[in-house]
Amino acid sequence: MKLLNLLKTLDYERLAGTDGEQRAYQTIINHLKSINLKPHLETFEIDGFESGTAELICGSKSWEATPYGLCGDSSTTGELLYLENADALFLRPGAYDGKIILYNHSSKRLHELVSCSSIKALIGVSAPHKKAYSYSYRQNMPKEELIPSLMIRYDYAQALMKLSGQVITINIRQKAEKKVAHNIVLDIPGTGIDNSLTMLVGHYDTVARSHGASDNAAGTVSLIKAAEYFSKHKPARDLRIVWFSGEELGLLGSFAYANAHEDEIRQRLRLVVNVDLGGDPIGRNVLFVLGTKELMGYATGLLRGKGLLFAEQLNIYSSDGMPFSVFEIPSLNIARVGGTALFTGHTEEDTAKLCTEYGLTEIYLATQTLLDHVLNSQFYPINKEIDDSLRDKIERYLWNSTLTKPDLFWREKYKK
Ligand SMILES: [Zn+2]
Repeated sequence: MKLLNLLKTLDYERLAGTDGEQRAYQTIINHLKSINLKPHLETFEIDGFESGTAELICGSKSWEATPYGLCGDSSTTGELLYLENADALFLRPGAYDGKIILYNHSSKRLHELVSCSSIKALIGVSAPHKKAYSYSYRQNMPKEELIPSLMIRYDYAQALMKLSGQVITINIRQKAEKKVAHNIVLDIPGTGIDNSLTMLVGHYDTVARSHGASDNAAGTVSLIKAAEYFSKHKPARDLRIVWFSGEELGLLGSFAYANAHEDEIRQRLRLVVNVDLGGDPIGRNVLFVLGTKELMGYATGLLRGKGLLFAEQLNIYSSDGMPFSVFEIPSLNIARVGGTALFTGHTEEDTAKLCTEYGLTEIYLATQTLLDHVLNSQFYPINKEIDDSLRDKIERYLWNSTLTKPDLFWREKYKK
């Protein structure tokens, strides 16, 4: 089946722990079973939620909005205040207590904004010409800090900022509860040249309200195609393909996986290839190398040899490779960016309609090319190493996404 036709079978919201996720993992499993592959599911518990709805009311006027994930049901009435830059909450502590804050910018993260003040509710503004983004609170937020929060469209914000100082009501209807989410795991055993393990991963879940075609049904179908390819072209080394859920809620599936498989990760995992974002008709292929310069040269060279031009960058990438960096496992993150997805990402407009076969082909071919070499070369071609220059970024990223201080289990590096 063509990549685009596969992608069309996943063109619906696939929020972790919901019916949409279940429909998606059943669809992926059915595709794999139809080519005689036998994946299994690994479950993990999350603080989940249904997308929900929200509205803002002032007098006889009302506007629809989208609630942040994990807010739950609420009705809040208070004075609206427009703060262009919400850093003011830090710089005038206590001055805005009890207010409903409409804001456009902050250098702080959401959890920092909420924990530093006693405001009643937060309203964020989406980019112009774009439907409201979907956001969610983090899993480890203290319950009392999960204040009613929502996103509104840019044009609605223009109307609302004129109401600063008036009393408004925010109604949020959203079921938030413990849910079970599912990773799909498929092993393709090698012929036994050594006992290393290489992983190919990508997330199949979406944010609330989005079909996540570009992000990341695109990567999901690349993984299905790769499963088909490597089951027919048996590699020398073991390959494990994992479709993660819960990525959009803070890499929950990959963190759960890393937790459950820590011993094996330490003993034999050597590389993670992660595919995230694709499908754009006009775009730019990019390769984020969370590893060393040596790995970056190796990977881009292999791709060029196949006529695939990827803009390479030694950097972290906000996706499922990150939990493995805790154990100094490098990851190659394959993505296609820059076109329509720039405007539709994490909104309800990220649908299959905007994806093309062309926009999916090169990210798939890059995936196949890299793995073909790594899995079949005489010696494992990549060192289990991440450049020290990325260490601080990794720590900060992990801390922000888990709200817990990370421990990195990296090899000691001695200077010559
Ligand atoms: Zn993604």
